[in-house]
Amino acid sequence: MTKTSIFLLILISGFTFILGYNLNTNPSEVVNQPTTSNSVQTFNWKMVTTWPPNFPIFQEGIEQMAKDIEVMSDGRLKIKVFAGGELVPALQTFDAVSQGTVEMGHGASYYWAGKIPEAQFMSSVPFGMTTKGMNAWLYFGGGLELWQEIYKPFNVIPFPAGNTGIQMGGWFNKKINNINDLKGLKMRIPGLGGKVLAKAGGTPILLAGGEVYTALERGVIDATEWVGPFHDQRLGLNRAAKYYYYPGWHEPGTSFELAINTKAWAKLPPDLQKIIEVATYSVNQRIYSEMEVRNIEALQELDKKIEILAFPAEVLNEFKRLTKIVLDDEAKKNPDFKKIYSAYSKFQQNNADWSTISTDAYGKLIK
Ligand code: CA
Repeated sequence: MTKTSIFLLILISGFTFILGYNLNTNPSEVVNQPTTSNSVQTFNWKMVTTWPPNFPIFQEGIEQMAKDIEVMSDGRLKIKVFAGGELVPALQTFDAVSQGTVEMGHGASYYWAGKIPEAQFMSSVPFGMTTKGMNAWLYFGGGLELWQEIYKPFNVIPFPAGNTGIQMGGWFNKKINNINDLKGLKMRIPGLGGKVLAKAGGTPILLAGGEVYTALERGVIDATEWVGPFHDQRLGLNRAAKYYYYPGWHEPGTSFELAINTKAWAKLPPDLQKIIEVATYSVNQRIYSEMEVRNIEALQELDKKIEILAFPAEVLNEFKRLTKIVLDDEAKKNPDFKKIYSAYSKFQQNNADWSTISTDAYGKLIK
């Protein structure tokens, strides 16, 4: 090879290199890429829940929400759902979300009462609001903003995500005719309801769902609350006690939460964030509506099998009086609790004024 041909070869190679370089950085090529890299990114998230595997309506409802999100996001956000105990113990879901071990959690905020006592107002408190009041307060009455504020130090963003509707007062093996019948009564009733029972002379017992039936059937406890006709019948409680009391004064409209880790949320593009937000509205309505239908069906069956009784007014009035004492005591000790209690009570009172002349008046009319 002559010196000239070597020179030409270098020149051609150099030209090709420059041409190739130019082709790869051609601005029009960049513009023609599908869109930004962010919008085609796929997210694989994990959600843990406080519910047992396959738990009807609650676990099933939130699994449906995860499927809906995958479809709506065209597969860009996939959420694998784990029931309580499958990845972390049921009552550690909040910590798992807070620490970022998982991106999402589903449960009820009163489970975190030991850590955040005022969070109980975001699920249910004795003699608190029913579902309609809870949804109104959370979505448009300032409740959700307060909820976001109290979860912020834990790096968790909450969304309302389901509601049980008003629960039942519970299953009893003896009749409750007056407040003296509560003395020494051993009842499975968690949280603030349990504190009220203790003030009334009873003994609240903490039991996980799986132990409730056996404890009642063997007389380890005299009474238990659980959820409502549908879930109670599935647990077999109608075979372990004679009397089914109403109303569920201790849980008048328990709201569920979807908890999301703040850092994980910030990584999502706005369209995926919006899909999640809208999906929580959907699951909130879905779980509540399904509860209503299943309870209607189960009540018809239970009505034939057991005695369904109202708590005497004297007993309910005493529970109500003691509830105020329990909540006021807590507010004196804890300014954060006091702040939420005060906002909640104000909305509840206004809501009650409206309900008296709307749903309550109409309910009496059509009975
Ligand atoms: Ca309950």
